[in-house]
Amino acid sequence: MSYSYEAPVSQALFDRASRVTPGGVNSPVRAFQAVGGTPRFMVSGTGPYLTDADGREYVDLVCSWGPMILGHAHPEVVAAVQDAVARGTSFGTPGEGEVALAEEITARVAPVEQVRLVSSGTEATMSAIRLARGYTGRAKVVKFAGCYHGHVDALLAAAGSGLATFVLPDTPGVTGAQAGDTIVLPYNDLDAVRAAFAAHPGEIACVITEASPGNMGVVPPGEGFNAGLKEICATGGALYISDEVMTGFRTSKAGWYGVDGVRPDLMTFGKVMGGGFPAAAFGGRADVMAQLAPAGPVYQAGTLSGNPVATAAGLAQLRLLDDAAYARVDAVSAEVRNLVGEALTKEGVAHTVSAASNMFSVFFTDRPVRDYEDARKQEAFRYTAFFHSMLAQGVYLPPSAFESWFVSAAHDARAVERIAAALPAAARAASEATA
Ligand code: PLP
Repeated sequence: MSYSYEAPVSQALFDRASRVTPGGVNSPVRAFQAVGGTPRFMVSGTGPYLTDADGREYVDLVCSWGPMILGHAHPEVVAAVQDAVARGTSFGTPGEGEVALAEEITARVAPVEQVRLVSSGTEATMSAIRLARGYTGRAKVVKFAGCYHGHVDALLAAAGSGLATFVLPDTPGVTGAQAGDTIVLPYNDLDAVRAAFAAHPGEIACVITEASPGNMGVVPPGEGFNAGLKEICATGGALYISDEVMTGFRTSKAGWYGVDGVRPDLMTFGKVMGGGFPAAAFGGRADVMAQLAPAGPVYQAGTLSGNPVATAAGLAQLRLLDDAAYARVDAVSAEVRNLVGEALTKEGVAHTVSAASNMFSVFFTDRPVRDYEDARKQEAFRYTAFFHSMLAQGVYLPPSAFESWFVSAAHDARAVERIAAALPAAARAASEATA
């Protein structure tokens, strides 16, 4: 397709970047390959807005893929970071900030009796899987097609996120040995989980699932799905790992656990808890966490784990996330969802707005989406047209039809009006799009 607007400075930066970095980006989805066109190089963010290198302002509906739940450059988060930076940026020793962040997490999420801080969601899920294997003495891991848990070797089988966008079933570089103990099942299918446990008695260390998936687009768990997983794991002697890297501290004060109340054995976190810095965590049952070094034999470590600047940012953000902040995020999400649905309906575009608390995405199909197969049947080419129309009108959406949209407590009436004003033309573009 042709793009009716240009971004010469971003294009020049992308050309420069492509000479020194594979594909010009440091994380694949940023390259716009699924939608085409020039990736926008951002230079600043304030509240709900981003400004790119060409000086254009956008309402941001990506929010750094989730972390910026208070909007960009929240003054109190910035002040906490400045204060921390001035005291030194890394010590390689324990510090009080890590303790305070761990206390905040354990106070919010009851199943987390002990927590270990790491630097990325990938590290969190990788470490949780190792711990589950170490604790149970078993090798096999059950995951669900379309769920993304970071680029952990064993979990890069039928993963969502960038892999959903590129429709890669797998990736070179992951050996059969690394993926051979991974059992990939269709999402929302408890019978398939029961069958896997029956086929591999005493072999499954854990089931890992996104608490409510956002990496194949937003596909919430069906009624009783997470509770069913928990029960099957308990009966089968496996651990139930709920990956809340995306949902944690976003979908409620206690993340998705605060929504469905199903108690996991282990949980993983990232994004919101880092306040825009690299901080993540895994935690859960004290008897399981006690197996972790130096308390126990399962090794795990990190030079920058619990970094004082990252923990200060995360703590400041979590402390600002009170009931009023979540109420605002939920309300904006509902408003934007309704506006999108109305605009697409008006143009006769088949669609489903799928929400899990304040996370949501739009599938260009009117058939129900319960798993990855359903998600992939949507008319993604309509999203491409929709995306570019919104971008041209100053609204920054995820550059892929298989990602969640994110709003923040800083999305005010003016930001919502700008989204509303852009939607009619974008809906028309989607209706006129051809495959
Ligand atoms: N788990 C989930 C559910 C995620 O959404 C992501 C990232 O999007 C990860 C794990 C990996 O986190 P990170 O990108 O910080 O490594």
